[in-house]
Amino acid sequence: MSQENESDLPFIEVARTFSVMERISSRTQLTLTLVRLFKKTPSTVIDKLVYLIQGKLGPEWKDIPELGVGEKLLIKSIALAYKVPESEVVKLYHRVGDLGAVAEQLAIRYREKTKGRQAGLLAFMEEEAEPLTISRVYNTLMRIAYAQGENSRDLKLRLLAGLLSDAEPLEARYIVRFVEGRLRVGIGDATVMDALASIYGGGVHAREIIERAYNLRADLGYIARLLAEKGIDSLKDIHPVVGVPIRPMLAERGRDPHEILRKVGGRAIVEYKYDGERGQIHKRGEKIWIFSRRLENITRMYPDVVEMVRKHVKAEEAILEGEIVAIDPDTLELQPFQVLMQRKRKHDIHKVMKEVPVAVFLFDILYRDGEDLTAKILPVRRQNLLEVVEPGETFTIAQYIETSDPDELWNFFLKAIEDGAEGVMVKAVHEGSVYRAGIRGWLWVKLKKDYKSEMTDTVDLVVVGAFYGKGKRGGKLSSLLMAAYNPEKDIFRTVCKVATGFTDEDLEKMQDMLKPHIIPHKHPRVDSRITPDVWIEPYYVAEILGAELTLSPLHTCCLGQVKSGVGISIRFPRFIRWRPDKSPEDATTEQELFELYRRQLKKVEEETV
Ligand code: ATP
Repeated sequence: MSQENESDLPFIEVARTFSVMERISSRTQLTLTLVRLFKKTPSTVIDKLVYLIQGKLGPEWKDIPELGVGEKLLIKSIALAYKVPESEVVKLYHRVGDLGAVAEQLAIRYREKTKGRQAGLLAFMEEEAEPLTISRVYNTLMRIAYAQGENSRDLKLRLLAGLLSDAEPLEARYIVRFVEGRLRVGIGDATVMDALASIYGGGVHAREIIERAYNLRADLGYIARLLAEKGIDSLKDIHPVVGVPIRPMLAERGRDPHEILRKVGGRAIVEYKYDGERGQIHKRGEKIWIFSRRLENITRMYPDVVEMVRKHVKAEEAILEGEIVAIDPDTLELQPFQVLMQRKRKHDIHKVMKEVPVAVFLFDILYRDGEDLTAKILPVRRQNLLEVVEPGETFTIAQYIETSDPDELWNFFLKAIEDGAEGVMVKAVHEGSVYRAGIRGWLWVKLKKDYKSEMTDTVDLVVVGAFYGKGKRGGKLSSLLMAAYNPEKDIFRTVCKVATGFTDEDLEKMQDMLKPHIIPHKHPRVDSRITPDVWIEPYYVAEILGAELTLSPLHTCCLGQVKSGVGISIRFPRFIRWRPDKSPEDATTEQELFELYRRQLKKVEEETV
């Protein structure tokens, strides 16, 4: 054990850092605190630490089972660990409202009791519990997750109780919170990368290299360990690997065909923008994986797509991207996103496969038989795509044209909408048109159908707070404080309060959805001038439609960017739908809102001239 300890990190260091972080409200301070912790962490366990900080046991795509410890079992484990009746844990829980704090209190009491007893008896013979290390905590949590089948409940209970009884009170607080999925120390991936850059890369300039590696190999624990063991240069050799998702390249938005073509360099490949779910398809022989936009493994949802890939992709190994779209079983016409979502909600996948059939429209290829294609320009990638895919009725290349003519682009856009697409994607073909994983830029520009109407475009905002309703909605959280994302600072800034657009059913569901994400104070990554009734950790993204963008002294989005002391807000915001396929960092950015505001002003000017 002592040998293991030398290359391990005492878990108390982690718990102390978390407790400091809970009180920090500035991101710079958070980063510095994290740097201090990383400096104490041996390279062999830094991956485990990074996962725990992310509140998980590994990247989503690895499909590590859920811990499977619900509130009841957690209460039982605490009771068992500290030798108190369950009813006492429950009573304390009602009083304190946080099981982490309950475990901490009971651990203190338990320690005092056992110490007293030891002092009175054979104190010299009693052994102190072995101090916890990050490895022990991580490995035990892994064992809990992988305990499946008969008797697994009992095994989970014993493993967790064992861990808690050896934990210092402060450690118990964070172990319990982790198990509950409420760690909430406020560290996002960007903060982890900043801290890693400062320690292993010699400063902020290394941040870009780390980010690029993370974009190509979506496993921050792995990246951290490689960096700690082999240094920053080792990250330059990172290439796509089949079975490990690549973070998707994203588009900016445009509305005027002339301007869009100018932005992408004059000439473009223009494709239908299908309204479905993005799928990153990985193939190695007969083995197929499909990853979502959020890099979750969604292969199970699409056995039909797996079959299509086997049949239509003529490469031993490939990574392809396409949109999976619901189609009408009789006419094969495109159906909107909401129809595809029905498939997600149902359990009997083989039955629903027939009710909601899908088609796949491919638009990119990132890897082919040993060759990394991400650094190749779009025309080369497209050529590879055409060579690899043998199209069929429901598995085919996205409809496209290549053009430098704005009128031709506009006509193609109208045709796309007529055919049930959402609009078009306009993609650069020049010598810089590589696949920029994880980056939103002007190499791809989306032109969507909402731009045709007088309304402003919809935006995707993050819930950061909520307010109780009045009257019929009394006592229920019924309006939401919404924020945009600022990727440079890695923070969320408020844009509006949305109270309309929810059905009664939405409202009912919302109560349960929000509850586990309520936090006692403003999240450190949130910048707000408004204090809601409850703060919510950034977790949910919703699509919001408004009448127009306005200036407001209440909101912090783009504060001072247009006019000093005021931010940009949305007038008459309306809830459209949840976007479970987006994480908070995928929300509309402050910069995008600024662009939308600028465009709106320009339009008003044009109309008044
Ligand atoms: P949105 O909310 O508009 O779907 P997003 O933030 O998910 O956007 P963007 O990069 O802004 O992502 O828009 C591109 C999205 O459109 C992709 O993520 C993908 O799901 C979808 N899509 C549909 N057809 C195409 C296509 N031909 N090329 C690229 N993406 C496409």
